[in-house]
Amino acid sequence: MQILRLTRSIKQYLEEISDPNRYRLDLCPQCQARCPLIAHGFYSRTLVDVAFDGRIPVRRYVCRFCKRTVSLLPDFALPYLRFGLSLIRLFLVARLLIGQSLREAGRAARQPHMPYQRGQFWIRRFQKQAVALCTALTSLTTVVVAADFLTRALHMLETIGWTAAHRFLFAKLRMHLLGWPRFLLPHGCRVGFPAAPADS
Ligand SMILES: [Zn+2]
Repeated sequence: MQILRLTRSIKQYLEEISDPNRYRLDLCPQCQARCPLIAHGFYSRTLVDVAFDGRIPVRRYVCRFCKRTVSLLPDFALPYLRFGLSLIRLFLVARLLIGQSLREAGRAARQPHMPYQRGQFWIRRFQKQAVALCTALTSLTTVVVAADFLTRALHMLETIGWTAAHRFLFAKLRMHLLGWPRFLLPHGCRVGFPAAPADS
């Protein structure tokens, strides 16, 4: 199971990752056992964000009762997406809210040579989520009047803050800001076969 941990920056995250007690959970989010989880190593994942391009460690814990693992993903990352939240936000706002071309939106997201298909992939996933996002986010902000759900969702995210919205959606509703990839069930559970990390 993945859960998000609050972070101020990638730098801060990397500085704190070595301390297993820093964000150790006292309650198992899966079986609810009230007992500190045991540090269980790391896995490594790629992350491309506005000012970062590399691999980051993600800390894992294991519950001594149900034996299941919990990964603490930093909140600047989106599960199963190589690209970070800040970068995707810059792209979607530039393309869908400001109306820039795909190429210009790529530049706005500091990805001047980004393949055309990658931006379209994000747009398609976001479009599919727009109605659900508008509904879910009404508990965080007032409904914004807009011509369509897509624009409304973008305005609501801009008002709330994308990271705050991402934390809320993931922690409370198990919703993925860009929708769960097809190889996962609606709530982010694996469907029984190992999946390679997404590359887009
Ligand atoms: Zn447990």
